Amino acid sequence: MMDFETIKSLEDQHSVGVYSKRPVAIVRGKGAHLFDVNGREYIDCVGGQGAANLGHANPKIAAAIAAQAERLIGLPEMFYNDTRAELMDRLCNLTGMESIFFCNSGTEAVEAALKFSKVITGRKEIVATVRGFHGRSMGSLSATWEKRYREPFEPLVPGFSHIPYNDVDALDSAITDQTAAFIVEIVQGEGGIRPGSPEYFHAAEKICKERGALLIIDEVQSGFGRTGRWYAHQHYDLKPDLLTSAKSLGGGIPFGAVMLRKGFDKLPTAVHGSTFGGNPIACAASLAAIDFIEEEHLIEKTAENGAWFLNALREIESPLIREVRGLGLMIGMELKQKTAPYIAQLTERGILVLTAGMTVMRFLPPLVIERSDLEIVVKNVKEVLQ
Ligand code: PMP
Repeated sequence: MMDFETIKSLEDQHSVGVYSKRPVAIVRGKGAHLFDVNGREYIDCVGGQGAANLGHANPKIAAAIAAQAERLIGLPEMFYNDTRAELMDRLCNLTGMESIFFCNSGTEAVEAALKFSKVITGRKEIVATVRGFHGRSMGSLSATWEKRYREPFEPLVPGFSHIPYNDVDALDSAITDQTAAFIVEIVQGEGGIRPGSPEYFHAAEKICKERGALLIIDEVQSGFGRTGRWYAHQHYDLKPDLLTSAKSLGGGIPFGAVMLRKGFDKLPTAVHGSTFGGNPIACAASLAAIDFIEEEHLIEKTAENGAWFLNALREIESPLIREVRGLGLMIGMELKQKTAPYIAQLTERGILVLTAGMTVMRFLPPLVIERSDLEIVVKNVKEVLQ
């Protein structure tokens, strides 16, 4: 295998440069652990940015992918397929939704949800939130708030506005009879791991319903078990009109979906589409992921480990910490200063942690992580912050 310097120099030469990279070359994974090219082991709290809920190199998912690959890898949705049919049914049963459009990533799920809400309502305006993140393609980017992601690409899609998150009055003023949809995260992920309140979401549901606007809940990051429920909105018994899912939905391979609640007419033929959407191999991986979560009681385990981890991080005493927030195993620790030096120290200690903005350390470990690993993470976070 190539050594670290070779790997790094090739990637540095040939990548366009949009990623800020960590000085580590990962070549293998197992469960919640990653291994670099020199064989060094890390505890992974990056969790594939939310796409590795099932753990790295999960043998059940690898076997399902291999078996499906030997039978049929790809097939456009113009043909019916057994694996896809089964997955549609399983997902609708898990969420209480009725219909599904499959795609290949989070941003595509959001694009589809935005388009569908316009088609269904015949309206053109979309309301999104301050610090919301919904993707980086032109439609989803128009719903994303962060200025430095948006500005180079303006003018974006017209008709989007951003209102303060978790603010019922702002919502009440913004949603009108021109609004096609309100798009919101249950826990803002990229925006700093900020959970909204149940009251806020219940008000959103009511206001949208009264004014004929659709409620799009974006669970690309918070979904598929991450917060200790299949989907985070289930904590508050919400009924989204449209629900977006991606990241771990495909058990680690690219996949996305937007699900529609019961009661909508079928959408007009050809109004949207995707070559790879609903491909059998992603569907097989997703089915294996659902089976694994159920067999391993991963939802319950995530709720328990998440509550323990949140509490343990909150007990760390350090003048550097502003706040620790989260739901399930979606946790953010906001510092009073930039996280970069602490993230680097943790990497040196064999712990990989994500960020959410400049001052928030974000923990999205694979849901299979053991309590003993979380204890090691807490101990090391404590030591670098004290
Ligand atoms: N929506 C949310 C809530 C997300 O967190 C993300 C990714 N971080 C996206 C959409 C976009 O997903 P992707 O990177 O798969 O396009």
